[in-house]
Amino acid sequence: LNHIPSPGDPGSRLLDGPALWPAQAHTPTVLGRQLVIDRGEGSYIFTDDGRRLFDGTAGLWHANIGHSNPELAEVAFDQMRRLETYHIFARFTNDKALALGERLAEISPIDRSKVILNSGGSDAIEVACKLARRHWQREGRASKKVILSREFAYHGLHAYGTSIAGLDFNREGYGTDSLVPETARVSFNDPEQVAAVVAEIGPENIAAIVTEPVQGTGGVNPPVPGYLEAIQKICRENDILLLLDEVITGFGRLGTMFAAERYGIEPDMVIFAKGITSGYAPLGGVLVSPQVWEPFYIDSPDTPVFRHGATYAGHATAAAVALRHLEILERDQLIPRVKELETLLRTEFDKLARQNVAVTDVRVAGLLGGITLAGHLKAEQVCDDLIELGYVARPLRGNTIQVSPPFIISDQELTLFVTAIDQAITERE
Ligand code: PLP
Repeated sequence: LNHIPSPGDPGSRLLDGPALWPAQAHTPTVLGRQLVIDRGEGSYIFTDDGRRLFDGTAGLWHANIGHSNPELAEVAFDQMRRLETYHIFARFTNDKALALGERLAEISPIDRSKVILNSGGSDAIEVACKLARRHWQREGRASKKVILSREFAYHGLHAYGTSIAGLDFNREGYGTDSLVPETARVSFNDPEQVAAVVAEIGPENIAAIVTEPVQGTGGVNPPVPGYLEAIQKICRENDILLLLDEVITGFGRLGTMFAAERYGIEPDMVIFAKGITSGYAPLGGVLVSPQVWEPFYIDSPDTPVFRHGATYAGHATAAAVALRHLEILERDQLIPRVKELETLLRTEFDKLARQNVAVTDVRVAGLLGGITLAGHLKAEQVCDDLIELGYVARPLRGNTIQVSPPFIISDQELTLFVTAIDQAITERE
């Protein structure tokens, strides 16, 4: 029982690594191979041993305005010297969280939104799913508890995100089908199957459908034409809330402020994170429609409470950074720029697909691209080779390579990136 195998034995414990546990990874695969990033500049990151890499994924789809922007550093510095934060519990609130709420309500795809703020995407998913159930309980329709999500979906890894994961490996290992029992999966592209699942479970038991407008981690899957509209119709006809997870797509990644605009969808809640600050502060939240928030705002002793709060909900420094970040997006015309880059990305991907039989599919929505490879080529290997060439791309489900660079890149940088991918694929073939 107490035997500790010597290093190198199969099954030996990796005892000498850093104390920091990369908990999302298979440790034997990554330990000793991690690149230590100690600096960033615009669209580039630098390792502690001095290598310069083009950040072709914008980190985890977050660094939309690029790295190490001094303007945002100054905003954070100034805000921390004035007030790092003050909580928004009970009789307290803070000026920056209030101002950010107003700004978000102005740009929200939902009319007359209220905004709940917290620290990231997984947090925001937790809030949205809880609020969906709370909504139906308050309506007196307590059986409406099930949250439906799509195959291949990724919604973070807190309790709800784990439970509604459409990437099954993220849901496994907790002793039951999911941490939160009332969840189920629907087809990622077939509305008829969605309608069949709704009928089988019964609309009287379903609180909400959660969907990424374009699936990210599941392999960069834009919606098949008509899918989102069909899901919206199913929701409306069955009193089911529609929750759009815009953690990747929000704040310009698709060339519109939100994907809801691009696809003409009117969700009941929008979940956001990453792109609200481009990662300069941990911040996420939920935009909520009047149908859901109004009952919590009635002037009466009997008005219900949505009990959800955290110390850092409405963090003043994060909110100050977000406000300036939104100004930068607008001032530097970065969202229209994404539209231009989308056209170029499409052209480059079409060329790549024509020139490589090993590329079986390419998908583009905004500045979000997926390249699917034939089985004999492994996306992991191609991405490893790309690092040697000076480029970061990321392998995703379905032998797919993720391409999602910062919005600030030049045409030439995008073309060179796709050329490097082409080279890496060709050299592996
Ligand atoms: N939802 C989507 C669509 C995501 O892509 C992610 C993260 O990649 C999350 C939720 C979780 O966000 P976070 O990692 O900030 O908790």
